Amino acid sequence: MAPPNVSPSGPPLLELRGITKRFPGVVANDGIDLDLRVGEVHALLGENGAGKSTLMNVLYGLYHPDEGSILVRGEPLRLRSPRDAIEAGIGMVHQHFQLIPVLTVAENIVLAEEPHRGPLMDLRSADRQVAELSSRYGLTVDPRQRVEEASVGQQQRAEILKALYRQAEVLILDEPTAVLSPQETEELFTVLRGLREDGRGIIFISHKLTEVLELADRITVLRRGRRVATMPREGATRESLAELMVGRHVDLSGTRRPTRNIGRPVLEIAGLDVDDDRGLPAVRDLAVSVRAGEVVAVAGVDGNGQTELVQAITGLRRPAAGRIALAGRDISRASPRQALRAGIGHIPEDRHRHGLVLEFSIAENVVIEDHFGPPVATGGWMHPRAMVDRAARLIKAFDVRGGSPETQAGALSGGNQQKLVCAREMDRSPALVIAAQPTRGLDIGAVEFVHDRLIAQRDAGGAVLLVSFELDEVLELADRILVMYEGRIALERPGDGATREELGLAMTGSLAAEPAPA
Ligand code: ADP
Ligand code: MG
Repeated sequence: MAPPNVSPSGPPLLELRGITKRFPGVVANDGIDLDLRVGEVHALLGENGAGKSTLMNVLYGLYHPDEGSILVRGEPLRLRSPRDAIEAGIGMVHQHFQLIPVLTVAENIVLAEEPHRGPLMDLRSADRQVAELSSRYGLTVDPRQRVEEASVGQQQRAEILKALYRQAEVLILDEPTAVLSPQETEELFTVLRGLREDGRGIIFISHKLTEVLELADRITVLRRGRRVATMPREGATRESLAELMVGRHVDLSGTRRPTRNIGRPVLEIAGLDVDDDRGLPAVRDLAVSVRAGEVVAVAGVDGNGQTELVQAITGLRRPAAGRIALAGRDISRASPRQALRAGIGHIPEDRHRHGLVLEFSIAENVVIEDHFGPPVATGGWMHPRAMVDRAARLIKAFDVRGGSPETQAGALSGGNQQKLVCAREMDRSPALVIAAQPTRGLDIGAVEFVHDRLIAQRDAGGAVLLVSFELDEVLELADRILVMYEGRIALERPGDGATREELGLAMTGSLAAEPAPA
């Protein structure tokens, strides 16, 4: 591909100078400089909490910086609201889409800026303009489709079209690939390359090193609110970027550590049907087994029944049909407490809702599931000493930083909260650990740690069911991989016998279901 049209002699498309934004107790952005050239993809890379979203919210007029200035083509800009940003040619695709579900794609795109013909909105012309833009940039959408019926990928394309319709020259994308399959990600990159050729400037936010190296012309790394580096892609490596992000050397080898000792089946599921909140089938006629000493990973794009499957196994949702057995015992109708007593450890997808009580201390959280029995309690009496001792032991073993047994769980950082949940769930030596998105939102160091503990659990003879949207994580940890698509298993492969390509295809339903290899 021809090199992008970089750095004409004029001023950059966009400049951020010395942006500082403070929140109570934290400097989210500390004197950050960033510039964006015409026809450039500039990646903004950093761990969770590094300040990426804050900086972009400043640029989009959602936050007012405490210090610093913003220039567009050399002209200072005062942003009172996103309206000013849009007027200055800045468009943003948020991490969480901001479309109106009951309206069509075209209506969403032209909303608040409808072409008028007399007093009525001219929808015909809106449809036409949207179709034009859509074919020009290869952003395939159906203008007449209602957003609530559109896939995540289509909604994202609608968001991009919305910005282009408003003539954005600068496009900000905040973690756009988090919700996409590998193929959808490639399609998005093709679109972004086209926009770059067209002379737009793109700020691409991500914490995925491989993607950043694939797409970006230049890379800026933030760490703890500060800009630690800006560099061209040439010469940057995953290792060097990771080190800049984290501030120390990180091992990224991600070597597979296959199991050596597979035992009896621990979890056996047959003919399972589970409905979602609306009563629609989410899991259909599903069969899965997980054996002792094995990590089975369920891969797939969010929303294909994974959440309902995990809820059914852990007693949070009643199956419509089928059987779930743990070590031979039927638990299809078990309550969450009974499932736990039967030997399930659950690292939940939403650690704030189902994992920890943030107002409780670390010690209280550690015993929350078994405060009704020894050694923590006898005959209705709690033994605070035992609670505190256990908490202290787990804090040490799981390297939970930033608190003592008496500290409120809510005062810990996200990564340390997750370590605490892992500690509590694995300490009971459950027969089966269900880890749902266990590393989402964690920084690189904490991810490494959680992965090691899951493997240790397996090597001690435990069964592990991992549910993850991150293909890298699946490929690193799984002894067996199941791809879930529309409530069914679309593909099964041994952990070392799967290609990214076929997994990605199965994740989008483009691969016909086939029987598991013998
Ligand atoms: P990133 O997008 O890189 O993950 P953020 O910009 O979201 O990081 O956050 C940077 C820091 O600012 C974090 O410590 C975060 O907790 C804090 N922060 C972000 N938004 C707010 C807010 N609205 N109020 C208070 N603190 C915030
Ligand atoms: Mg963010």
